[in-house]
Amino acid sequence: MLSRPELRAALLARGQEQQDLFAEASRRRDEHFGRTVILRGVVEITNVCRVNCDYCPMRRDNVALLDRYFMSAEAILERAEQIRDAGIDVVLLQGGETSRVLSILREVIPELRRIFEDRVEVLLNLGNLSRRQYEQLRELGATSYILKHETSDESLFARIRHERLDERLSHLRTLLDLGYKVGTGLISGLPGQSLDSVIDDLELAGELGVHMCSVSPFVPAPDTPLTDAPAGSLELALNAIAALRICYPHLLIPSVSALEKTRSGGQSRGLAAGANVLTTNFTGESDLDRYLIYGKDRYVVRLSHVKALLAEAGFDTRGSVFLQQEVR
Ligand code: SF4
Repeated sequence: MLSRPELRAALLARGQEQQDLFAEASRRRDEHFGRTVILRGVVEITNVCRVNCDYCPMRRDNVALLDRYFMSAEAILERAEQIRDAGIDVVLLQGGETSRVLSILREVIPELRRIFEDRVEVLLNLGNLSRRQYEQLRELGATSYILKHETSDESLFARIRHERLDERLSHLRTLLDLGYKVGTGLISGLPGQSLDSVIDDLELAGELGVHMCSVSPFVPAPDTPLTDAPAGSLELALNAIAALRICYPHLLIPSVSALEKTRSGGQSRGLAAGANVLTTNFTGESDLDRYLIYGKDRYVVRLSHVKALLAEAGFDTRGSVFLQQEVR
């Protein structure tokens, strides 16, 4: 664990200090997980969302996004088969926040488990639902859930997401209580975010007792109120990854596509900073242009990119740690 002054120094590290930070973070990752990366396959099942986050083009009030969609159960399962055929056993079903996906998931999750003969981690990233709905998804066979707290600054959270932080945190605790493996995440470099608040974010991940945590640099996206705000610093995001790894070596920490979007080579540096998860996108071409998480020119991570990254950095891949698989 690092003290607050040490966390501050870690977030500000550059040059040799940053290299030393990354070396220590990598050492802790390798000690805990071996030199391995967990692969996920993501399918983006809907771009419909009831929330109105100021940084996201899929926000409810974005009237420029006319083409809202829900993937059918058949289409999702077709993509899940492609994930299985690629040798990946973590299927991430991700979408905007709407309970309208539940009827589709009732059909999809049991069938998805059948396709994988039960050797699959069903990971969901679908926003706030009710306790009963989380329970139902768990009973259907969901393993894990990502619900990012985004920022631990209460007033910034309210200003930028138009929702309440305490409510979000209570959902995270409910998910843990129901036996989900839970992931949170933060956006670094949000307009109006202080360095102290990023330190709070790192400490919050530990306090919550989650199993996974991501760090995404803020990406100003078109058709959002924050389109003209400056992008988050890649260095700050990388240093936050390294600090997380040093404080909580057991966490799954993805090297997210927003790192690559911020600067080419960003994901490779995410691995160097201590990350140990990569997510390949299996969304179909027609829906990719409609899932506007960072706008139309977001960086779409394909299997070829993941393979090149792994080869370059000398990592092996492994399956879901929650299924306790052996290293392949
Ligand atoms: S970030 Fe998520 S919850 Fe917020 S508007 Fe976009 S899809 Fe909805």
